[in-house]
Amino acid sequence: MDVALVGGGYTSLVCALFLKRLRPDLKVAVLESHYVGFGASGRNAGMVLHELHDDRAARFGKDAVRFTYEQVVGAVDTIDRLCKDYGFDCDLERDGYLELALCPAHFKRLAERARTFKEYGQPLRVLDRSALQREIRSPAFWGALLYPHAATLQPAKYALGLKKAALQEGVQLYEGTPVLSLVPGEQVVLTTPQGKVQAGAVVLGLNAYHPASNIRPLHNRAVSLFSFIVLTEPLGTRIEETLGWGKRWGYSDLRHLHNYVRPVADRLLFGGRVRYRFGTYLPPEQELPMYEQLKREFSKNFPMLQDVRFTHQWCGSVAFNWRRSPIMGVTGRHRNIYYSMGYSGMGVSLATLGGQVLADLYLSKRDRWEGLIYLNDAQWPLPPEPFKFMGFTGKYWWMLWQDWLDMRSLRATR
Ligand SMILES: Cc1cc2nc3c(=O)[nH]c(=O)nc-3n(C[C@H](O)[C@H](O)[C@H](O)COP(=O)(O)OP(=O)(O)OC[C@H]3O[C@@H](n4cnc5c(N)ncnc54)[C@H](O)[C@@H]3O)c2cc1C
Repeated sequence: MDVALVGGGYTSLVCALFLKRLRPDLKVAVLESHYVGFGASGRNAGMVLHELHDDRAARFGKDAVRFTYEQVVGAVDTIDRLCKDYGFDCDLERDGYLELALCPAHFKRLAERARTFKEYGQPLRVLDRSALQREIRSPAFWGALLYPHAATLQPAKYALGLKKAALQEGVQLYEGTPVLSLVPGEQVVLTTPQGKVQAGAVVLGLNAYHPASNIRPLHNRAVSLFSFIVLTEPLGTRIEETLGWGKRWGYSDLRHLHNYVRPVADRLLFGGRVRYRFGTYLPPEQELPMYEQLKREFSKNFPMLQDVRFTHQWCGSVAFNWRRSPIMGVTGRHRNIYYSMGYSGMGVSLATLGGQVLADLYLSKRDRWEGLIYLNDAQWPLPPEPFKFMGFTGKYWWMLWQDWLDMRSLRATR
């Protein structure tokens, strides 16, 4: 085997697909413990987002920040192109995305953010309270920043489309095949319950599954946090009639612990809350209160939809690191263990980009990505448990405190 990819999500599937497209002679196999899309790639909110890492400009320079931003924005085009090339549909809608202010302090921050984007030649539209009310009627919203290049899609359809495309290119896929251990070497040895796999190179597409896996060496580069979603019953024309929400854009609010929302056909998807737990399984008694909390927040945001019922709820894990920016690269004494992870809840675009970058690194085309900050951003390992948990808990309370301080600006207006 030339390349074995661990995990059946966007990172591995995109990488496998590009490897075979560019080098059809390679033997490439994806090993997935459950089935394609079992992880975050099959259960996310489907918003294709991008972030400007202006905080990294001091270290990498503004050109690198701009280049990185453009590549992440370009992931939407990549998704669009893959749909067309391989004839699959993932309900991609390129209407944009709103970052929402819930109080005057948030709105001030949005205006500052818009100025920063402008410095990078990326003018974004600021909607003040009355302009936003014309787009989405909610008494809870104080304004928004519109990211016109963002999009939404149906996440599982994207994962299954990538599966179809990868199989079409000749990628071998082994579902129900968990990798139990990895032994580095010139030939990396992966152990699965069905037997051993030897590969000249390995791609780790595990993202939030890294911390709980036995697979070294990247298990300590991120924490996995649970994110929760509830979905309303079909609302018919009420989304447009009651809320005036005519465009298909999604949004998240500007709190550190924020909610994200988007229309899905004629329903509303409402997500957010985070919970730390070592491992990737959350017992139901910890899960259920989070959904109830989300439903209460939904009613606060949309008081005119108090009566709607929720028909679905689910959760999944996302990987965060200190800087909330991904890391991509190659490691190991033999430089044959490739990784891309730490997408911090923006993995639809970032994992698509990460898969492409890893394929190019393997094919010695690193030059194309030289300016990408994620490739060169060595990040310290996180401490072991229980210190990691303590660090996260401290940060969690700090974020709650900051959100409370911001929302005080709302009280001042009453
Ligand atoms: C509730 C939720 C909402 C989200 N919303 C958004 C959003 O709106 N926009 C956005 O950009 N991002 C969002 N994300 C994040 C995004 O979905 C992820 O960053 C992205 O899907 C990561 O893709 P991946 O391929 O790296 O990992 P995953 O899709 O998680 O795939 C990893 C795979 O590895 C498999 N696996 C684990 N251990 C092993 C093993 N030992 N051997 C073999 N296989 C293994 C798992 O079964 C899994 O299928 C959200 C995530 C969640 C959970």
